[in-house]
Amino acid sequence: MSGKTSEGSHILLSGNEAIALGTYEAGVKVASAYPGTPSTEILENLVKYEGVYCEWAPNEKVALEVALGASLSGVRALATMKHVGLNVAADPLFTAAYTGVRGGLVIVCADDPEMHSSQNEQDNRNYAFAAKVPMLEPSDPEEAREFLKLGYEISEKFDTPVILRTTTRVAHVKGLAPAETPQARSAAEPGIVKDPPKLVMLPGHARLRRVVLEERMKALRDFAGSFEHNRVEWNWKKVGFITSGVSYLYVKEAFPDASVLKLSMVWPLNEKLIRDFASGVEDLYVVEELDPFLEMHIKAMGIKCKGRELVPGIGELNTDKVRSAITGEAVSGGLAPVELPMRPPNMCPGCPHRGTFHSIRKLKLFVSGDIGCYTLAALPPLKAMDMCVCMGASVSMAHGIDKALGSEALGKAVAVIGDSTFFHSGVTGLMDIVYNKGVSTVVILDNRITAMTGQQENPASGHTLMGEPAGEIDIEALCRAIGVKRVFTVNPHELKKTEALIKREVERPEPSVVIARAACVLIPEHRKKKKDKFIVKHEKCVACRQCLSIGCPAIEWVDVTPEEAAALGYREKQKGHSSINAVMCDGCGQCIQLCKFGAINKAGSLTGKKKSKSSVKGKSSSRKKAASPSRKKTAAKKKTSARKTTVTGKAAKSTLKGKSVKKAVKKKTARRKK
Ligand code: SF4
Ligand code: SF4
Repeated sequence: MSGKTSEGSHILLSGNEAIALGTYEAGVKVASAYPGTPSTEILENLVKYEGVYCEWAPNEKVALEVALGASLSGVRALATMKHVGLNVAADPLFTAAYTGVRGGLVIVCADDPEMHSSQNEQDNRNYAFAAKVPMLEPSDPEEAREFLKLGYEISEKFDTPVILRTTTRVAHVKGLAPAETPQARSAAEPGIVKDPPKLVMLPGHARLRRVVLEERMKALRDFAGSFEHNRVEWNWKKVGFITSGVSYLYVKEAFPDASVLKLSMVWPLNEKLIRDFASGVEDLYVVEELDPFLEMHIKAMGIKCKGRELVPGIGELNTDKVRSAITGEAVSGGLAPVELPMRPPNMCPGCPHRGTFHSIRKLKLFVSGDIGCYTLAALPPLKAMDMCVCMGASVSMAHGIDKALGSEALGKAVAVIGDSTFFHSGVTGLMDIVYNKGVSTVVILDNRITAMTGQQENPASGHTLMGEPAGEIDIEALCRAIGVKRVFTVNPHELKKTEALIKREVERPEPSVVIARAACVLIPEHRKKKKDKFIVKHEKCVACRQCLSIGCPAIEWVDVTPEEAAALGYREKQKGHSSINAVMCDGCGQCIQLCKFGAINKAGSLTGKKKSKSSVKGKSSSRKKAASPSRKKTAAKKKTSARKTTVTGKAAKSTLKGKSVKKAVKKKTARRKK
């Protein structure tokens, strides 16, 4: 996308697309982010515009630091993240408020009321208050685009980072926006400027900047009083609402005749503006999602209002909820909720994580889990995750268990973390394990991509967000460099090998890493690959349901009538059989390893267990052929390896597969660039 569009026309944009366009229009030169719903699409769209450097950082702290560095070099910079990402980036945020900026610096953080895809429902407006930085909050995509640009003006005018807060609704809803894309530029000149009193936060410097910070906040409070987007809409004066963000739209729809003060700058607040509005209405209500943030600060001004006592503070609001909360009347009309059949979230057919968690479940381990698609392993039928708190916590929490229980915990617990999450913040936990003489085993699920947020590149995927080839972090070498002596790689589709390897490692009183490496099934190259399909030979199925225990969506249960059962030669009690949906089957071969009765076969090879075994062998050898360019190298490695155990052999095979997967990812990214 060039960013140029025809004059006078309008375009339909989601909030995130509008922010990307606004960023381009603001003349931003550097943008860094860690993917996280609902913010991910901002950089995925921004990268399509010319002249903006975009990158996925390993975590949000790094993203903000990259953006701050760029800003202090005099260019406009952007950092984006989901709400919990700001917890990770809080360290640089709080001190960036002291240093201030040169080129404008905007941080977009996307809150997730209702927790559509998040582990908590924190309200990041509190960060603006705590870090003493201004925060803008748009109500729709067009405002998101406009406020993003205003954010840069405010940032440069007041020498401060600015947070633009969106919520899931604003990030994902579509709206019309004018198509013109005039470009602005930073007021600062790009270049290196040495200014230690402003940029080196030694206590002596920081104490002086602390005073500057307070003066700046006072100036911003005054500015908020004349900020044209803090808008008073006088109407019927019996009832008045103070609101912001998407709640403004709900209020307007529920009470079109009421007076409204729409706060677009939600921090800092201008007391005079609020007091004048409050004195102009009889009953004042504050309508906001999540925390009573505005209400608390308005009440602290000594202004009487009603808010949280009426308006729910959990989950998203909508027009009906707002109307009902204020009037106390049951809501009637509108669209009745549609009853949909229950469809529990599940990992994809053929997902390699399923194999890892099946193996872990068999070992009855306590699983310290992490954030990713694989968190779904906590749900039935796998039920193989026992705790999950935040990005990277799996590794350090497993170490905590180890230190709390000592030898009692040996062989009973394991940490499981995805590749991208490991780079994000799991690697520091692993350092802690090595340094503090822990014994935990960490399973790294390396599916070659950041899968959950929609297939973003990461430090091991071999390409950047800009589509350029990049250095690939070698996870095995990284773990060894940290000091982990026992590092093994396994193909998680090979269930018994995976189980045996994890069992052996958790029982050893020293730290170890098991890298379960197989490609995410959604990587385009994997999807295009010709794969074996598997089927259930119904007359051989004895209804033991073992194949169902891994929860593959391609495996279904089919009830049969007594006549059908008789025709299939079933024993009297057998009332059904398993069946594989050929369209959904991804050919991972996990289920065939679970069926002890030879009922699952490779399609086209219907001669029972014996044949099916050879089918699996055939499949495995064809995989080896596919990886043949690397075979000599791996064989040489095998010869020189000190570990000549069976597991080492497995690791070598898996490495072959890992390399062929890496090639696939490279091709994918090259195409994406085109
Ligand atoms: S297909 Fe095999 S594993 Fe699945 S229910 Fe039938 S006999 Fe059991
Ligand atoms: S091979 Fe079996 S487990 Fe794998 S996707 Fe097909 S049905 Fe599911």
